[in-house]
Amino acid sequence: MALIDPFARKITYLRLSVTDRCDFRCVYCMSENMQFLPKRDLLSLEELDRLCSAFVGLGVEKLRITGGEPLVRRGIMTFFNAMARHLDTGGLQELTLTTNGSQLHRFAADLFAAGVRRINVSLDTLDPEKFARVTRWGKLDTVLRGLDAAQAAGLAVKLNVVALKDFNEDEIDTLLAFCADRGMDLTFIEVMPMGDMGDTDRIGQYWALSDLRRQMTQTMTLTDLPDRTGGPARYVRIENTGQRVGFITPLTHNFCESCNRVRVTCTGEIYTCLGQEGKSDLRGPLRTSEGDDLLIDAIHNAIGLKPKGHDFDYSRGNEGGKMSRHMSHTGG
Ligand code: SAM
Ligand code: SF4
Repeated sequence: MALIDPFARKITYLRLSVTDRCDFRCVYCMSENMQFLPKRDLLSLEELDRLCSAFVGLGVEKLRITGGEPLVRRGIMTFFNAMARHLDTGGLQELTLTTNGSQLHRFAADLFAAGVRRINVSLDTLDPEKFARVTRWGKLDTVLRGLDAAQAAGLAVKLNVVALKDFNEDEIDTLLAFCADRGMDLTFIEVMPMGDMGDTDRIGQYWALSDLRRQMTQTMTLTDLPDRTGGPARYVRIENTGQRVGFITPLTHNFCESCNRVRVTCTGEIYTCLGQEGKSDLRGPLRTSEGDDLLIDAIHNAIGLKPKGHDFDYSRGNEGGKMSRHMSHTGG
């Protein structure tokens, strides 16, 4: 039976975090000394497979693997290769991932072979020193090598750029030109109030994308596009270059009415809304019985509780609706 929530939205998109660990420590995402979950709490690769297969059986057509950094999860290619069977049967229309790009030079060809055709790579700056500062542990060179490998393998790439005040405001043109040259899409993301970062190195200042867009229109002509993915992105075409650019604006624009997605963490918690604390456990039902009946019931029950929308709000000068969990917990 298909997954329909109380507001008549059909759930066809699962975003699955396969690890909370990461080889970067981006300043808006993690604190430098993150405490990670004990490995026994994580779903095994077999459990991840059972979980996703159950969702596919319930009508999920698109699966995005995320984290933490999904490509640092040991054995992750076994999981991708196993998911390829759902592409072969047509149950799954798309298998994809969001990655920081640090391991792409190793995995790009294998991902393509497993049926992945498009990936999102997160990259906020093209300046090596700023890149080291914002990711704390990352090296720009390695990510650029990963982008080369991805494109050489035939993967379409979309760059995700978090808009950060006093950080990449002056790089918008450079990032757009970089993507235009390489035939990559680009999406700007507003910083969301996820998790406590401590006081250290807090570059992550909220920069409203309405301001970024205004900055762009000073030198380029933008045309709004009707494209919708059921998610928070809105798209424009830059007439000067023909590029398509997305804006993910959870704070300045509401998108909940067309939401078609749910998120599952690496410990099997299902969050039916990124911007609400409500969650349900799927690991218990997965581990209680070898059959999937309990799991399927638990998924239906969770979808039955999907809230109408998020409560993020910066308008009163504070981080209204702030979530206690980090983005790497739910998977961005
Ligand atoms: N490690 C992978 C990566 O960086 O692409 C996947 C996980 S990461 C949590 C997914 C996305 O969330 C990235 O594009 C990242 O920039 C974004 N992100 C993390 N923390 C965020 C925050 N507080 N607000 C907005 N976006 C955030
Ligand atoms: Fe890691 Fe991605 Fe979070 Fe950066 S945004 S710390 S790469 S999970």
